[in-house]
Amino acid sequence: MYNIMSPKAEEFISHEEILSSLAYAEANKSNRPLIDEILAKARKRQGLSHREAAVLLDCDLEDKNQEIYALAEQIKKDFYGNRIVMFAPLYLSNYCINGCEYCPYHAKNKHIARKKLTQEEIVKEVTALQDMGHKRLALEAGEDPVHNPIEYILECIRTIYGIKHKNGAIRRVNVNIAATTIENYRKLKEAGIGTYILFQETYNKESYEALHPTGSKHDYAYHTEAMDRAMDGGIDDVGLGVLFGLNNYRYDFSGILMHAEHLEAYKGVGPHTISVPRLRRADDIDPDVFDNGISDEIFAKIVACIRIAVPYTGMIVSTRESQACREKVLHLGISQISGGSRTSVGGYVEPEPEEDNSAQFDVSDTRTLDEVVEWLMEMGYVPSFCTACYREGRTGDRFMSLLKSGQIVNCCHPNALMTLKEYLEDYASPQTKSVGDALIEKELDVITNPKVRQKVEDYLQNIHQGQRDFRF
Ligand code: SF4
Ligand code: SF4
Repeated sequence: MYNIMSPKAEEFISHEEILSSLAYAEANKSNRPLIDEILAKARKRQGLSHREAAVLLDCDLEDKNQEIYALAEQIKKDFYGNRIVMFAPLYLSNYCINGCEYCPYHAKNKHIARKKLTQEEIVKEVTALQDMGHKRLALEAGEDPVHNPIEYILECIRTIYGIKHKNGAIRRVNVNIAATTIENYRKLKEAGIGTYILFQETYNKESYEALHPTGSKHDYAYHTEAMDRAMDGGIDDVGLGVLFGLNNYRYDFSGILMHAEHLEAYKGVGPHTISVPRLRRADDIDPDVFDNGISDEIFAKIVACIRIAVPYTGMIVSTRESQACREKVLHLGISQISGGSRTSVGGYVEPEPEEDNSAQFDVSDTRTLDEVVEWLMEMGYVPSFCTACYREGRTGDRFMSLLKSGQIVNCCHPNALMTLKEYLEDYASPQTKSVGDALIEKELDVITNPKVRQKVEDYLQNIHQGQRDFRF
């Protein structure tokens, strides 16, 4: 039975409710009055239910689809402006006891060399990331209680926050590790993590169990209820995601929105981010065996409909996607992207040789961070290295209420310009620097409050003279 307030996975993600929503969406995909009604509700920018969003996703009226895209674009502009927050993944260890059918790190894959970074190697990796200009990392590790116990992850976090190299600093460490206990989530919170990220992969229990035949990840309920435990452990910001291509995309689209509704209703705060990865080719993994692949068009529609359904949730797209695809979805609602990523353990210091395929997945967008930053700016976006909210204690419901009141916008834009200026001074190529300095000059006009603008101009001058880490 569907119950949004239930602590049980199979009740807050109800299979019957999803099937019924999908049937409703299918039956109403050309229902103009209903679609107009849903769009009118969406224009109030207070979100949609999973069922309403499913109707928009299925909508086959061309003119209404154009309205959906236009609304997604407008909501993205209203809440996130033209800023795109930058981050990079850092792979700590590819030891894993699980048997995920779509991931080359699965325990039975004997082709890849297993590696786990020592603290000395982490210093080297993070120094390389700092020298690229990154300030925000997402840690990745397989599940292995012997090789990657929670103590190892905590030690890595401490090491990372402690590395200060030239003007570099990692100011926010997000963590993507296996579902764990409330006690371990509490330890992660105490270690000062930003967002706890855990991809559901698929919300369909039957597919989930088939795709995870062995290891502790096999337990659907334990995995699906992990975000509730993370919040019980004091973590305010959690990041959801599904791996599109594993299962029917319509099913997982409804599932992820039901999960967001559950967190908001049951824990008082919705997800901080939603990631939209698509299945990629990797060692020992052939995406062709999964027949649920989605086209770029459907992918763009998913992004637009998520943007409309949960306007307050950041949306992340990684370098799994090509430059062309990222370009297509950025304006529809993406607020965070990775750049210059390496998806193998130790890959920032020693990129993987071609024949040694130990990356978790093939990267489509292989450009350097500097190239990605310049590309964004050429398209009129402001790449942001901001981490201010977490450091000012604006997390969880405090963050959400500020965002909902529209006040956060007064912080984001100045912070984006100041952190971009730091990047330009410390790491950018001459070409990127010249594009960026001109962009900052132009974007100052977006700040309408004269006092704030004056302050930002002063801070930018201070940054040019060598000072760092100003924020609103
Ligand atoms: Fe292990 Fe995660 Fe890969 Fe599954 S997806 S095999 S848990 S690293
Ligand atoms: Fe994100 Fe807060 Fe910075 Fe805005 S001010 S970009 S919401 S960290």
